[in-house]
Amino acid sequence: MHVVVIGAGIVGASIADQLAARGARVTVFDRAGPGAGASGMSFGWINAAASESDTYFRFRLAAVARFRALCDTLDLSDAVTWNGCIWWEDEGDAFDVHLDAMARWGYDVSLIGPDEFTRLEPNVANPPERAIWCPSEGAAEPDKVARALLRRAAANGARLILGREVTGLLRTGDQVTGVQTDLGPMSADLVVVAAGIRSGALTGLPMNNRPGLILRTAPVAPVISRIVMSSDIHFRQASDGRLYLGEIFSGGIATETLDFASDLIDELMDRLRRRLPDVADLHLEQAALGTRPVPADGFPAIGPVPGHDGLYLATMHSGVTLGPLVGELVARDVLEQDSDPLLAPYRPNRLF
Ligand SMILES: Cc1cc2nc3c(=O)[nH]c(=O)nc-3n(C[C@H](O)[C@H](O)[C@H](O)COP(=O)(O)OP(=O)(O)OC[C@H]3O[C@@H](n4cnc5c(N)ncnc54)[C@H](O)[C@@H]3O)c2cc1C
Repeated sequence: MHVVVIGAGIVGASIADQLAARGARVTVFDRAGPGAGASGMSFGWINAAASESDTYFRFRLAAVARFRALCDTLDLSDAVTWNGCIWWEDEGDAFDVHLDAMARWGYDVSLIGPDEFTRLEPNVANPPERAIWCPSEGAAEPDKVARALLRRAAANGARLILGREVTGLLRTGDQVTGVQTDLGPMSADLVVVAAGIRSGALTGLPMNNRPGLILRTAPVAPVISRIVMSSDIHFRQASDGRLYLGEIFSGGIATETLDFASDLIDELMDRLRRRLPDVADLHLEQAALGTRPVPADGFPAIGPVPGHDGLYLATMHSGVTLGPLVGELVARDVLEQDSDPLLAPYRPNRLF
């Protein structure tokens, strides 16, 4: 079976890896490269906490476990850490609602006060009266993870065509028979669209993509180990010493361009300096306005596109958390007709 995968972000790379490992003939197209889309501008928090429903929580929890298992089979030591997260993004009643949900789900969390907070993160100032400590969560550099997955896929025979765009789909009636690219046409038994924010243009999937601001500082000496999700900023330190930060996780930003975001960028750097007062030189190295790929109802869209045989979608927010699990589930779904019940709520036909 020849599968064309459109998109080499963390989701497309993971699908390509799992398809190639199962013996499929795989060709991956990306108009730029693994970090060109959301996977290059992501905060990279691997978690099940940001779940809006019990069903979605179970999906994300399985995804976190699958990501950990991936780290046992692929050397991701420069790209993934598992040091946990301290969360107090919401306060008051909203905090209690969140904590109650996590307790009901049986998520591995505990309530901590300022002393325990300072033991965990001695360099972070103004510890909150209460926070939720989530020791099982991790952080990833998604573009590095995607590159590692693509290397393994290539070692298993996948062909990577980077810097080339899929401009359309080849069809015979309702059957998608391949892709049209700026290199020419290529036939395929199945086309998997993992094109992030551009998935809607290729398939007609209704989307509600949202901008998100990510700042990166120049490297500093190790100062924090955990992901810190505070009420006014979230930040973490990567293994190269750079701090990644953004406004509160659930917040989209109103602006479409960085020019208009300059006040917010200054404000976020000030908030970071207030949280880390002993770090003398915190310099902004990069500010990026990424776009979150979000299917119209906010949940993943994974499965056949209705009315188009041979066309399959894999588009989602939280693709960093979900990518490794989705790769495995999609490969089983399309090659072995083994449809995992975890996928049932996220089939694209609900949106067309
Ligand atoms: C600011 C921000 C913060 C985020 N924080 C988190 C987080 O903390 N945790 C989390 O789990 N998720 C987070 N996300 C979401 C996550 O980053 C995305 O869900 C994930 O990266 C999507 O991966 P992907 O492979 O589906 O898409 P992408 O990484 O966008 O990859 C799609 C690829 O398709 C290629 N492409 C598109 N169209 C074509 C075409 N026609 N032909 C060829 N190639 C094409 C693009 O070049 C691109 O490389 C965040 C996103 C943003 C923007």
